[in-house]
Amino acid sequence: MKPFAFARPADVAEAVRTVAADPAAVFLAGGTNLVDHLKLGVATPDVVVDVRRLTSREIADTADGGLRMGAAVTNSELAADRRVRERYPVLAQALLAGASGQLRNAATTGGNPLQRTRCVYFSDVTTPCNKREPGSGCSAIGGYTRYHAVLGVPPTPPGPTAPDTCIATHPSDMAVALAALDAQVQVLGPHGERTIPFVELHRLPDGDPSRDTVLEHGDLITAIDLPALPLAVNSQYRKVRDRASYAFALVSVAAALEVADGVVRDVRIALGGVAHKPWRATAAEEALRGAPATEESYRAAAAAELAGAVPQPGIDDGNAFKIPLVGRTLIAVLRDLTPSEA
Ligand SMILES: Cc1cc2nc3c(=O)[nH]c(=O)nc-3n(C[C@H](O)[C@H](O)[C@H](O)COP(=O)(O)OP(=O)(O)OC[C@H]3O[C@@H](n4cnc5c(N)ncnc54)[C@H](O)[C@@H]3O)c2cc1C
Repeated sequence: MKPFAFARPADVAEAVRTVAADPAAVFLAGGTNLVDHLKLGVATPDVVVDVRRLTSREIADTADGGLRMGAAVTNSELAADRRVRERYPVLAQALLAGASGQLRNAATTGGNPLQRTRCVYFSDVTTPCNKREPGSGCSAIGGYTRYHAVLGVPPTPPGPTAPDTCIATHPSDMAVALAALDAQVQVLGPHGERTIPFVELHRLPDGDPSRDTVLEHGDLITAIDLPALPLAVNSQYRKVRDRASYAFALVSVAAALEVADGVVRDVRIALGGVAHKPWRATAAEEALRGAPATEESYRAAAAAELAGAVPQPGIDDGNAFKIPLVGRTLIAVLRDLTPSEA
């Protein structure tokens, strides 16, 4: 491991100043992702700035009836909170579908959405990877693609990969639920505070796959807000994976559904394991609003969302299986959320 300095600033303002002042400085929260990357040589910072004791560990009610989750709230605490379980069950379920009990005790609200891809080539410093080393190439093209993207990626032309080719997926379960719930990210940066809609936090690879998010260097997530969202009471997270526990998603679906008189009044859907970012399924949502709450509508909505999906060939038989799999998972979740009288 490359030696680094360790800093424990007095407050968040000093933490932001410390990271902003050094291009090779990083924040540390629970450390469950960053420390692995320090050991693997994927992350080689000069300075590691510990923020876990600086950001809030409180889950607070907000004036509009939502919740503010401090960045240091652990994934275990958040999943166990009665307000989250009752008002946003999709979030509690997504958290509990991730990692293990021990990891969730350490992992934080700020760190979880910023965990990096589990693409095996990103973690293996002996292989080219445009995300880890911009311009070096993408080893996943024609390699192991089982866990890779089918949405938000153009077909790869034959020949050497372009400098921005990246078919990695975003791995967080929690982030898929937050994308569906219209969460808002509170950020303190070198130029002050700002709010970023969660669906705009993560990026597609376009032009620079080394950047997972729109955050600038020195930007600290201080909290994530959930708006009051009554339809989220009827919500669900379903994760399909190779093992029943302790495995990342092949595909996942977070959805909230409101049905009245047999008609879809409102809906929120996000997909995981299929794109470089948590994928808000706006085409499926549009197809569903005002449609009869039937299997036929659910099939049409899944087809609308997946019309642009691009399978990746690979030495492990590729990932074409993900397209029907995520479609069927979405239909099953919507069916589960449909009231029996609808
Ligand atoms: C074996 C294993 C299995 C796992 N399985 C799953 C799974 O199934 N599903 C899943 O979703 N996750 C899984 N994880 C990942 C785990 O959920 C993440 O590692 C964890 O949520 C990251 O949170 P952290 O607080 O430990 O972040 P850290 O490791 O401390 O930081 C992660 C990144 O976020 C940055 N950062 C941290 N806090 C802030 C902040 N407040 N503002 C700005 N930047 C910040 C750090 O600089 C770093 O780049 C697994 C991890 C392991 C090791």
